[in-house]
Amino acid sequence: MSFLSAPASLRTALTSATKTSSQLLRPASSIPRHLKSRNHAHRHFSSTRPAQTDTLMDVSNFTESQLTVRDSILKITAKFDNAYWREHDLTETDPWELHAALAQDGWLGIALPEEYGGAGLGFAEATMMLQTITQSGAGMAGAQSIHANVYATNPLAKFGNKQQIEKTIPGIISGKHRICFGVTEPNTGLDTLKLKTFARKSSDGISGQKIWITCAQVATKMILLARTTPLEEVKKPSEGLSMFCIDLSEEAKRTPGSGLELKKIRKMGGRAVDANEVFFDNYEIPADTLVGKEGQGFKIILHGMNAERCLLAGEALGLGYAALEKAAGYAKERVVFGRPIGQNQGIAHPLADAYMNLEAAKLAAYHSAMLFDLSGTEEGSWVTPSMVGAMANSAKYLAAEAAFKSCERALMSHGGLGYAAEYDVERWMRDCFVPRLAPVSREMILNYISEKVLGLPRSY
Ligand SMILES: Cc1cc2nc3c(=O)[nH]c(=O)nc-3n(C[C@H](O)[C@H](O)[C@H](O)COP(=O)(O)OP(=O)(O)OC[C@H]3O[C@@H](n4cnc5c(N)ncnc54)[C@H](O)[C@@H]3O)c2cc1C
Repeated sequence: MSFLSAPASLRTALTSATKTSSQLLRPASSIPRHLKSRNHAHRHFSSTRPAQTDTLMDVSNFTESQLTVRDSILKITAKFDNAYWREHDLTETDPWELHAALAQDGWLGIALPEEYGGAGLGFAEATMMLQTITQSGAGMAGAQSIHANVYATNPLAKFGNKQQIEKTIPGIISGKHRICFGVTEPNTGLDTLKLKTFARKSSDGISGQKIWITCAQVATKMILLARTTPLEEVKKPSEGLSMFCIDLSEEAKRTPGSGLELKKIRKMGGRAVDANEVFFDNYEIPADTLVGKEGQGFKIILHGMNAERCLLAGEALGLGYAALEKAAGYAKERVVFGRPIGQNQGIAHPLADAYMNLEAAKLAAYHSAMLFDLSGTEEGSWVTPSMVGAMANSAKYLAAEAAFKSCERALMSHGGLGYAAEYDVERWMRDCFVPRLAPVSREMILNYISEKVLGLPRSY
């Protein structure tokens, strides 16, 4: 029984889409059969093709539901042009209007179950939503303003109890609550299992420090990973960590002595969204903020991590295609030595190569999102967690590298103007380091594939 319905505008998009094809906007659990069968992996194509006039990207691998999501999101992002994003980047102003517009039309619940008021779609569609946002020119700022709302809610919906779900998820979907994700710590970095933030059952609350927490200034909830049993007292380092969904009230943020303190980090890109150091000093949290079983937080949070890699792959792709489209347009128009610069192979070939890299990464990204959606379903019983991990990590890596190549070449193709804010490619260039660095670095993905797929000895 649903306790919150998806807003009418999203329902209209879904319904009108359904009228035009039998394959449109299905919940993840009922993705067309041909997309689910590994025996028919060669048939990953939708039956009707839309006109492909607005993007260089080949759209023939997408399902009807992904294309419908793309069209609907494009209508929203059309209200936020490059001038909006340039200004918000310069002034470091939160793009709350985009968050509100997406919330109003129900998109923040895209990958949440229908019984909780979500759209009941999957990460194959959510990845498309995030790609469409970055590709619209919004860059990482647009994506990051909603990114955690989309993936960090996934473990909450899966492992939270009824009261937690009823208390938080409708508010996240409606836009009342913004979410941030608190895992990284300054002293332990990528060695997540060593994190030191500690939550005690006694009245002490949480103490410790997080870093790089995106949107903590504007968020009212944090999905937090903290230790509840000291490392030296657990059998495996992955035990003794717990996941919480805690309040970050405006009052606590602004009140000295509340036990919560935020310090904004000045950063290179995506400047419209805030990133923060977060300090907890005996910050009180009620016992009912614990999500799932105590000590099982790492397993729970892992569920969201593969989803996040899929989203970041999409976000990187959007940056890459936006930059490439801009560069191709400029290379046709800019005349030097009596001919368009794009007539020089020194300009054309790097852009052509960037296109092929993006296209290959795109196939990997949407394949990994499809595997993620299938995993855990009856039809996806053949999908193993290690398959999802390998594909989601590979896709994030490939898309981030393809985006970097594309942004760098787009900037260079613009000559000096590539360095001017007005042309936007410098903004996307600054942004494209985020998918290379976070949530897991290139090096750690290479380590993961070396060990888990190639079976090589662990190097760290
Ligand atoms: C813009 C931005 C937003 C972010 N948002 C969030 C957020 O909302 N929530 C959150 O929890 N975190 C967030 N992060 C943090 C991000 O996930 C981390 O920065 C990332 O996981 C890397 O950790 P680190 O910075 O501590 O690097 P470190 O762990 O210090 O690593 C530094 C370098 O050493 C390399 N390295 C380390 N160990 C090895 C090894 N064994 N083999 C090879 N290379 C190695 C790494 O690859 C990296 O290049 C964000 C980061 C950025 C930049």
